[in-house]
Amino acid sequence: MGPLIVDASPSHTLADILSNSLVLRQTTPYLPVASIYALAATSKALHHIVNHAPDVFRYLDLSTVQSAIVPYEPLDSGGISWRAERMDEALTEDEWYSGPLLGIFSKLQRRHVLQNVQTLVLDGLSVPADLVREIIGEDRFNVRILSIRETQHLNERKLLQLLRYAVRPSRPAGTPRVKGIYFFGKREQPPLLVEHAPKKKNSRSSSPKGVMSSQGAQIGAEWNHKSSEALSTALARTTDKWYQCSGRMMPKRLSLEWAETLKACEGIIAFDAVLCRGPRHDPGRAFVSNSDSEGSGLPHPASYLSPAIATVALGPHGCEQCQSCPEDPAVFGQSPASQLPLLSPIPLHSSSLRAAQMPHTLDGSASPPLFVRCEDCLKGRWCERCHKWWDEDCYTVSTIAQRTELQQTEYMENAPLDGAAPSKQSIKVHMGLCVNNCLVGEMMAGAGSNGMWG
Ligand SMILES: [Zn+2]
Ligand SMILES: [Zn+2]
Ligand SMILES: [Zn+2]
Repeated sequence: MGPLIVDASPSHTLADILSNSLVLRQTTPYLPVASIYALAATSKALHHIVNHAPDVFRYLDLSTVQSAIVPYEPLDSGGISWRAERMDEALTEDEWYSGPLLGIFSKLQRRHVLQNVQTLVLDGLSVPADLVREIIGEDRFNVRILSIRETQHLNERKLLQLLRYAVRPSRPAGTPRVKGIYFFGKREQPPLLVEHAPKKKNSRSSSPKGVMSSQGAQIGAEWNHKSSEALSTALARTTDKWYQCSGRMMPKRLSLEWAETLKACEGIIAFDAVLCRGPRHDPGRAFVSNSDSEGSGLPHPASYLSPAIATVALGPHGCEQCQSCPEDPAVFGQSPASQLPLLSPIPLHSSSLRAAQMPHTLDGSASPPLFVRCEDCLKGRWCERCHKWWDEDCYTVSTIAQRTELQQTEYMENAPLDGAAPSKQSIKVHMGLCVNNCLVGEMMAGAGSNGMWG
């Protein structure tokens, strides 16, 4: 009505706000691609911003975009134009599964925004290795942080090969542009799904029915879970799982070649996992001999181990006795980037490696140290329940600990309490539980039934 509101049409005001690049950078990562384009359609000014501001597509999450999903029926041509266009061509399997994403990429390229994408999230989508090769290798892409967690139709062997190729010593200067790849961890669930997903969707619910049947028990268990999460967050002073006593971090078993590939990529591409730096992986520190120790037919407990991915997060406190470890923990800001895992969630507002690796302390204090190891380096020295562990300097795991669990138990039962053989007291971890605390608890609980010594 009055002259005062003439200039206050909503789209105008919004365009003014969004044309501030800082505001734009903070806002757009929260918007699905569809919403960004819907916004662009509302006014000329916004259309201009969306198509010309480099920040709008710096962070691009396609994991929730419907058109990025490969339809189940390979021959259902209804409405799938990219398929219809190529109906007469003989498509390879990789081409078929790359189709939807290639279609999106060429659209973005035509609009001259593909070059602006620096963080690309393809979690859960159909991402054949050939597509990863294009994203990493082709000039039309400028991706620094790539996330391909829980993807489908991704041939791991091909992926390993192309990564090795991308970091080959004879590669062109300035390549590869990708600095970090999320592959090993679980994808983040959109907040809505976490809150409303039925509990039985959780893959861990393989426990027998009945035990947790009552709603009260479930709520109780949920509270336990939540409070133990809160506790480990508080203890580690950070919400980042790699820096907490999280235990096993990898949802799936990895092929051994991954460790070699991570080693080849060291200093070039970082991952959401790091190599174990336990002393047994260091040929200079490991026990190297061809003869068996103690004539037991078992390898020496300190013998050399080939490169392995650290799959266990041990928390910020180090060895139970010396609060450190022989390889020294990695520390953000001090250690080489290759010793630090990319952290989840993926940063929305920066595509730098630094942002992806920086732990977020609750009180803003200095980053906690990172203690991570492979399971071989923790055999017989890590309690899987309370996560206490003892390093090589403070505790020598005898060959006894390498025997099978049955052999171990027999040995423990027959061992004299003192004498030449190690006594019960000298063994710190037995069957994955610390002897002084968790194993005793287990025995008490099992007493009378079929407990170990019951
Ligand atoms: Zn120690
Ligand atoms: Zn190791
Ligand atoms: Zn324990």
